[in-house]
Amino acid sequence: MVLERIKIVQGDITKQQVDAIVNAANSSLLGGGGVDGAIHRAAGPQLLAECQTLNCCATGEAKITRGYNLPAKWVIHTVGPIWRGGDNREEELLARCYRSCLTIAESYEIKTIAFPAISTGAYGFPVERAAPIALGEVKQFLESKEAIAQVIFVCFGADKYHCYDKSVKEMTG
Ligand code: ADP
Repeated sequence: MVLERIKIVQGDITKQQVDAIVNAANSSLLGGGGVDGAIHRAAGPQLLAECQTLNCCATGEAKITRGYNLPAKWVIHTVGPIWRGGDNREEELLARCYRSCLTIAESYEIKTIAFPAISTGAYGFPVERAAPIALGEVKQFLESKEAIAQVIFVCFGADKYHCYDKSVKEMTG
């Protein structure tokens, strides 16, 4: 069952013992606030040095670096859409972020990966709309590919956790 490979936790993504964590970055890839700031602080300055070689990242795309001082070996940086009311391809671009990260993960033979709730902080994407997109894209990917053993959604705070939990229950009927 694909859903057995999906886990939802409340916590800090920088603490996750997984092969890769995903960073909700901005397009410069040069660090920022929120989860991006937390990941750079925990990984150490070598992460920024590697990001400086990557030459930015477009919305919906993803790029990979090492994890340096993080427990995770890899960081996959993706750029979520900024919420502008919902009529500006936000949902499509958010879905693309998840697919881009999973495609890179597969090519690096990553077995376990943790995602934050991309775009739902400073970028303003409503979490009750983001959660079913995140879960749906991951479920669809896992259905067609065996290689990734576990995907963890790390929710920062109880409200986001409950939103993801509700979404999973709606998916399982
Ligand atoms: P964005 O610009 O994509 O909205 P943010 O970092 O502002 O990025 O927020 C994305 C999500 O990451 C939000 O749900 C926020 O609560 C969450 N977040 C912030 N810090 C952490 C952390 N240390 N671990 C996991 N999630 C976090």
